[in-house]
Amino acid sequence: MYQIEDLIAILSRLPGLGKKTASKLAYFFVNNKEYSGDFIKVLSYIKDNIKFCSDCGCFIINSDKCSICSSDSRNSKILCIVEEQKDMIAIEETGVFSGFYHILGGTINPLENRTPEKLRIKELLFRLNQKDFEEILVATNPTIEGDATFLYLQNLIKTTFQNIKISRIATGLPMGGVLEYADKHTLSKAIEQKQYT
Ligand SMILES: [Zn+2]
Repeated sequence: MYQIEDLIAILSRLPGLGKKTASKLAYFFVNNKEYSGDFIKVLSYIKDNIKFCSDCGCFIINSDKCSICSSDSRNSKILCIVEEQKDMIAIEETGVFSGFYHILGGTINPLENRTPEKLRIKELLFRLNQKDFEEILVATNPTIEGDATFLYLQNLIKTTFQNIKISRIATGLPMGGVLEYADKHTLSKAIEQKQYT
């Protein structure tokens, strides 16, 4: 059987939570049974029904495509490549990008055995073959891994799809900075001032 300590231990494994906050939350759950019930219900439903969008690869619940990929009011000529879903959310929140997205699921980093095969590159090539994108906007982070991933994609796309223009969001973001933490204004500027290669 479980004890409160088990709840604290499992909560403290959540990203960004220290033991103190985990313990505070554990006692909140214990003291608020109705809330705990709702929490379990929603979490369990999400756990059982989570899927990936067949196009961009973002998490979705109970459908095959996300609302962005199934929208017909977006600019179908431009595809923005991001590392993670949180980057897509950050860009979407700026409101300055109206095309579609493709989530890679990380970056290339041979030292950590993250090779291109582990990213959603096969899916990317499939989409580029199926659709008439005219431009790829690469929005990987301005980090060493983000740069390496950009160079890999640039080379791959240039050799396979000569008609597609490639751009990258401007380096207005601080070096080593992460998209999801950039303020809306900085990120908007970085998208507006994208650079063609
Ligand atoms: Zn999607």
